[in-house]
Amino acid sequence: MSLFGASRLSIGLVGVRRSLPRSALLARLFCSTETESAGEHGFYHVTIAGGGMVGTAMACALGSHPMFEGKNILLLEAGPSKTYSDSVPDLYSNRVSSLNPGTVELLKSIGAWQYLSKMRVKPYKRIQVWDSCSDAMITFDRDNFSKEVAHIVENNLTINALSKVIDSLKGDRVETRYRSMVKTIDLPKQGDNAKYPFVKVYLENGEEIHTQLLIGADGANSSLRRMANINHINWSYDQSAVVSTLQLAEPIENNVAWQRFLPTGPIAMLPLSDTESSLVWSTSNQDAKKLVDLPEDQFIDAVNNAFWQESEKHPLVDTAGQIMGNVLSTLLPSTGGSSIRQLPPSIIGIDDNSRAMFPLGLGHSTQYVKPRLVLIGDAAHRVHPLAGLGVNLGFADVASLRDILVEAVKNAEDLGALPHLLDYETERQKHVVPIMATVDGLKRLFSTDAAPAVLLRSLGLQATNAFKPLKDLFVQGASR
Ligand SMILES: Cc1cc2nc3c(=O)[nH]c(=O)nc-3n(C[C@H](O)[C@H](O)[C@H](O)COP(=O)(O)OP(=O)(O)OC[C@H]3O[C@@H](n4cnc5c(N)ncnc54)[C@H](O)[C@@H]3O)c2cc1C
Repeated sequence: MSLFGASRLSIGLVGVRRSLPRSALLARLFCSTETESAGEHGFYHVTIAGGGMVGTAMACALGSHPMFEGKNILLLEAGPSKTYSDSVPDLYSNRVSSLNPGTVELLKSIGAWQYLSKMRVKPYKRIQVWDSCSDAMITFDRDNFSKEVAHIVENNLTINALSKVIDSLKGDRVETRYRSMVKTIDLPKQGDNAKYPFVKVYLENGEEIHTQLLIGADGANSSLRRMANINHINWSYDQSAVVSTLQLAEPIENNVAWQRFLPTGPIAMLPLSDTESSLVWSTSNQDAKKLVDLPEDQFIDAVNNAFWQESEKHPLVDTAGQIMGNVLSTLLPSTGGSSIRQLPPSIIGIDDNSRAMFPLGLGHSTQYVKPRLVLIGDAAHRVHPLAGLGVNLGFADVASLRDILVEAVKNAEDLGALPHLLDYETERQKHVVPIMATVDGLKRLFSTDAAPAVLLRSLGLQATNAFKPLKDLFVQGASR
């Protein structure tokens, strides 16, 4: 009994193929010598569902790799195309991401950075994080400010640059379909992988596609994950992030990313230009709604207050902080207390219609792979934006999966075979799980003004800030 039924293909195939059973025909089409026509008949070696930043990068990474020459790649995106003709819009988008050096390396390797850097990117050289309930602060830089810590980039420009790479690939190596949504899928059961060398993908428009490997890049609410019956651990933080494009009171060099932990959640200001920055303010859903609805002048006051207003300090925490400072400067005279506290810029206005709010939560798929299916990006893992790591983890998935699939092609292995997909899962979960636990722990530790928690975090911040090798480890860890 065939997994997908014993029917024969009826879609206008020529000659001997017409009489072949479906599984035999697909097996032939997926052999490297018969690939050219595969896409025409609804057969793809790799199908990627979800054309956000991560899915589009995946399509680029495979499509631009020489080992994938002759392979058909399909990118399906439920929404409309987000590509611009030549010039970028004057106004900044309110959705930006801090892209770390590992991501920049990937984007360079697939040819997208050359487009992106000509569009609009803002490098920055320092991160300053401080606590509103104590004097604790931590700063990060790379090699004493000689290198950028990261770049702030608008999400739609990243997708645009990746789409330009796809358009430039010779021989239509990646077929992109917009307003094209996966409705349901039919995966081979464990053990049937070799017998049925494909997944059936049914689109909303009634079309049916066969693919050797299906990559789910369809975001935090992934329907592919659900259709594949993959367990997903998730919780809502009952918080939302309010975003907006901020106008600075005066032009400055603007090469610092600022984040202050308030008991209600962190507020961050990320540099965009000498005169503008991007706001990400995480707070309760109720407060977020109020902030979005405030008259503009009151919203601006609220943002300035959130960065500048002194909160009441605990005397115990202050004393402990001073003692810790003395101990650290005795133990680590060359590094202890060397970071200078800078003051964030004030803001004077916001761009029209740039205020919006997004719900925040944590999500983790217990499995990233099944036979012929892989999850990447937010479909596999979703984190709080306080560490600016979400999409960077997704881009690192792309780099890891590309390398593993390239090896599979070199070794003439079936792209959808479980053993190498499991290598991807192991490699990524080893990296992602500790980061998710750390980010979730930080979120909880900083979401209170209770004295023991304030004491613990302020001593932790102080010690980490004073011990450069530990800080370097954080920067490196977050860069992969
Ligand atoms: C306020 C905020 C600030 C953030 N800042 C940062 C930051 O500074 N740095 C960082 O690293 N991360 C940041 N993140 C996280 C980052 O935005 C996400 O990790 C990232 O957008 C996830 O990308 P993705 O491509 O995996 O998913 P998505 O962006 O959700 O894309 C999924 C795509 O799949 C499509 N789709 C859905 N279902 C289907 C279907 N059935 N068929 C076809 N297509 C489908 C959707 O239309 C969508 O385009 C932030 C998040 C928030 C909320």
